[in-house]
Amino acid sequence: MQLSYNQATTMENSNLEKDLRYCEQFGYDYIELNIDRKLPEYLETHELKDLKDYFDHYHLKPLALNALKSFNNLSEEDHEQFVEKFKEQLAIAQTLDAKYICLVPLITEDKIHLSEIKKSAVKMLRELSDLAKPSNIKIAVEFIGLPTCTINHLSQMNDILKETDRDNVGMILDVFHFHAMNSSKEALRKTDVKDIFILHMTDAEEYPLGVVRDEDRMWPGEGVIDLEWIVTELNSKGFKGAATVELFRPEYYKMAPDQAIQKAKETTLKVLRDNGVSI
Ligand code: ZN
Repeated sequence: MQLSYNQATTMENSNLEKDLRYCEQFGYDYIELNIDRKLPEYLETHELKDLKDYFDHYHLKPLALNALKSFNNLSEEDHEQFVEKFKEQLAIAQTLDAKYICLVPLITEDKIHLSEIKKSAVKMLRELSDLAKPSNIKIAVEFIGLPTCTINHLSQMNDILKETDRDNVGMILDVFHFHAMNSSKEALRKTDVKDIFILHMTDAEEYPLGVVRDEDRMWPGEGVIDLEWIVTELNSKGFKGAATVELFRPEYYKMAPDQAIQKAKETTLKVLRDNGVSI
């Protein structure tokens, strides 16, 4: 595995320039660029070419653009807008030589039948797959462990990817989301490792399933997620992708960004190495 950093971890206490500097300093291999806030902020005073130059000159490389939200069950108008946004991100990913564009499913209080979610998600993923095909950019879908997310557990994600059946479409397996809606160990045992493009590493406070939220994430190894089992299972399956540390904890936003980025690395590496991963 390679070590990667998600910019949400220092969302309130850093910017892209600092994240790049500290990730390089502490020896990360990759960074997931935040396209909602940090990348647009950077581009207010820089060109995309500046970022490409940075990656050309340093060890750190762009793993993914994270994330385009609400890709499924859209109105016709919203569908068109989403496809346009995807094309924009595809161009950015190609310029930067990023490997993945991350997608997040629709989160809604509306009740939608599972069959309608699957039908819409598969159709959209195939459309986006065709758009990405001429490039080397792959599409990584992250199921979200929220009761209101239309794709919120691993077996549902697997079912959608199987039906989509495209080599350039896979998933982000975020251990928090796996835990938060009680995805089963059996589902992970059945998951084709080729479908897991990225592993998101974190931990969680001990709240009831379905209630625990992103803000309750903790440094890997400090919470209640069965990381030992998940990491051992992925390692035995031969997962060779990147492990990205990703937190959204307000308490950690009070830390100096270099300290947070160092702590994120140390806690993630310890969990991975303690469970047999060579990294
Ligand atoms: Zn994640």
